[in-house]
Amino acid sequence: MAGFKSMIRTIGIIVIALVVSLSSFNTSSEAALLGWDLVDNNKHLDWNSDSKYISSINNAMKLWENYKSGIIRPDTAAEREDVFLTDYMQVSSTIASTSSNGIIRFNDYHYADMSNGERLKTTTHEFGHALGLAHTFGRRDIMRQGKVSITKLSSTDKRSYDEAYLTY
Ligand SMILES: [Zn+2]
Repeated sequence: MAGFKSMIRTIGIIVIALVVSLSSFNTSSEAALLGWDLVDNNKHLDWNSDSKYISSINNAMKLWENYKSGIIRPDTAAEREDVFLTDYMQVSSTIASTSSNGIIRFNDYHYADMSNGERLKTTTHEFGHALGLAHTFGRRDIMRQGKVSITKLSSTDKRSYDEAYLTY
């Protein structure tokens, strides 16, 4: 989506934040896209990180890669990062965020005390934004809001990824 990437550079950086507060949930199973993604022109999401939560990152990558393989990969000298994952500490309701300029941030204020399942859900969720997925509202959706433990993609998560893939 090179055209869109140059457009968002001109209109500014879009940040999608995952917050603690829960919105109301329904059983909607509609796929949902952001309208932008961080996937490169080779259909790769190459990542690099200085986060201490590297095991969550690797497990989150595997959840998406077990569904569609060859897209999310650690970067190499030949193919530099499309997204950089890092930690920060701020007393706020934001658990993590993904910005359109290619940075995923995990808030240690929440991450330090979260269970492995909550970290896996959140890290997979942020990769989902980098893949172009928007929030959905199913209770078991990785792409729902909130600090919850989810360790599998839902059928809605998969449908959103299918739709996003068509735009790469
Ligand atoms: Zn989100």
